[in-house]
Amino acid sequence: MFIGHYALAFGATRAAPAVSLGTLFLACQFADLLWPTLVLLGVEVVEIAPGNTATTPLNFVRYPYSHSLVMLLAWSALFAIGYRVLRGRSGTAAITLAVLVFSHFVLDFITHRPDLPITIGGATRVGLGLWNVPAVELPLELFMLAAGFAIYLRATRARDRIGSVALWSLLAFLFLVHLANFFGPPPPSAAAVAWSAQALWLVVAWGYWIDRHRTASRAK
Ligand SMILES: [Zn+2]
Repeated sequence: MFIGHYALAFGATRAAPAVSLGTLFLACQFADLLWPTLVLLGVEVVEIAPGNTATTPLNFVRYPYSHSLVMLLAWSALFAIGYRVLRGRSGTAAITLAVLVFSHFVLDFITHRPDLPITIGGATRVGLGLWNVPAVELPLELFMLAAGFAIYLRATRARDRIGSVALWSLLAFLFLVHLANFFGPPPPSAAAVAWSAQALWLVVAWGYWIDRHRTASRAK
């Protein structure tokens, strides 16, 4: 799951309009933002294995700190607490962010083959493997993104030209990465995957940039 995560972040604007789009991206992709650094440090392990599922050539050998059920519960609580402490905002915003951080596990559970750990050390791995049915997975993620994006478009309006250009160019970027994930060649190495995954930080920055140039559509 890639753009499906961003779909939830866009949609969450309705529940937590005061939270920056960048922070929503940080929350929905917290697991995937942590993961490449842990891979580069050798703490988590990924292998290139074309055919691992019909969609992704990645074999997630070990990623309990970024992707286990237990750790995503912990990260979601820490994220919400951190947000409240730093920003002092309402409980709804913090709860929305906690749900978003945890939603990463739920969406990955639907798409990954059974490789998601429950605990850090345990052997149990889960996953429904929707990635093996690309005819469903590919349009499902596109549909999710379209729905989330539509909610965001209705909830906000551009303050200036950048507010539109930055938003629509991000949508195009996410769409292209989604297609490249499906139809592109497998990456040359695990390190190459991890380094390119660091580009997800760019999307977070992009979210903060967009947010500065947009405002709630109904001024209160
Ligand atoms: Zn993930």
